[in-house]
Amino acid sequence: MIDVRKDFPILEKEVYGKRLVYLDSAATTQKPSCVINAISEFYRSGNSNIHRGVHYLSEVSSERYEKAREKVSDFIGARNSSEVVFTAGTTDSINQVACSLRPVLAGNEVLITGVEHHSNIVPWQMAGATLKAIQMDDDCNVLIDSMEITDRTKLVAINHASNVLGSVNDIKEITEIAKDHDVPVLVDAAQSVQHVPIDVKDVDCDFLAFSGHKMYAGTGVGVLYVSERFNDLLPARGGGGMVDKVTLEKTTYLDPPQRYEAGTPNIAGAISMGVAVDYVQNIGMDKIKEHEHEVYSYARERLLEMDGVTVYGNTDEMCGAISFNIEGVHHYDAGLIMDKMGIAVRTGHHCAQPLMRSLGIEGTVRASFALYSTKEDADMLVEGIEKVRVLHA
Ligand code: PMP
Repeated sequence: MIDVRKDFPILEKEVYGKRLVYLDSAATTQKPSCVINAISEFYRSGNSNIHRGVHYLSEVSSERYEKAREKVSDFIGARNSSEVVFTAGTTDSINQVACSLRPVLAGNEVLITGVEHHSNIVPWQMAGATLKAIQMDDDCNVLIDSMEITDRTKLVAINHASNVLGSVNDIKEITEIAKDHDVPVLVDAAQSVQHVPIDVKDVDCDFLAFSGHKMYAGTGVGVLYVSERFNDLLPARGGGGMVDKVTLEKTTYLDPPQRYEAGTPNIAGAISMGVAVDYVQNIGMDKIKEHEHEVYSYARERLLEMDGVTVYGNTDEMCGAISFNIEGVHHYDAGLIMDKMGIAVRTGHHCAQPLMRSLGIEGTVRASFALYSTKEDADMLVEGIEKVRVLHA
């Protein structure tokens, strides 16, 4: 087991006079001191715009920004750091792909799963595509064998791990099937990149989207991995920093990654992502996976043992989130009672209304875990649920 709680100052906080039991890491993870310090230090002594100045500060900022890109590139196993595009987050990354691919997607189909976050649903609809979902079993696991790709399927867009159920999809197998049909694949890794090692070369996907704030970095920054196969995609955004030549008649674009990064980016955010990558890599993603698996499995087993508690999802590989409901108690009420005990959980549909419909429910209570989560946190969750049940008896 790893013990990194001292690295996260907020975990020492008390709420309502109780120890904070933070079980909302799928919404956003807490930040280690090194990330907090890097953001503060940037604004204190490094602040400057990048790529556009000849002066010292701008050079240093540009270097740090590009170094962060290299770290992220190494983290996800990209062939080249030019495949790593800094965005505002997963939602922004997916929207940019939807915008760039709009000419091919409009009037055609995108194949998704029935377990997607709205961020991997709405942008495709806005691009004019019709959504088809791969069939699921009773536990809402994707039935890969039933994947149907037709002439109209122009993209497969799937999550790696569900933000609701914690179920992990076999993205390599799904990509292989899509590739057999020459259909590109986008992976929404918002809920996996912080929990399990990912190698984009191995998965062979074309796009991978994730958020900095869910992997211990700051908010408002994320990544879109764009395979070099898509070096000449029409940029979703135009403006400064992405052009080669501009005339009133015509503009030509730079090569990636600048091609896909119009305007001033979230420089401090990107730098914080580099620091977060260093932080998790120093611990080791395999160790993180192992630690979280132990805490996650323990929490799940304890919840499964409880009378009157329904736990959703069930498959071999799970991580991050556990969703459940308590018999006779609205999920929102359960969340409120637990909050007063210092337990931070999330309630509602978790931006996954189609999944809620498949489950025949309106929402769940979701407890979610990160590398600082412990079995004591899981015990506190169980205590919280017991208290909810007593109060509602
Ligand atoms: N996809 C999934 C699976 C998510 O869990 C989330 C965040 N809840 C998103 C996309 C969107 O991430 P962000 O809000 O950071 O853009």
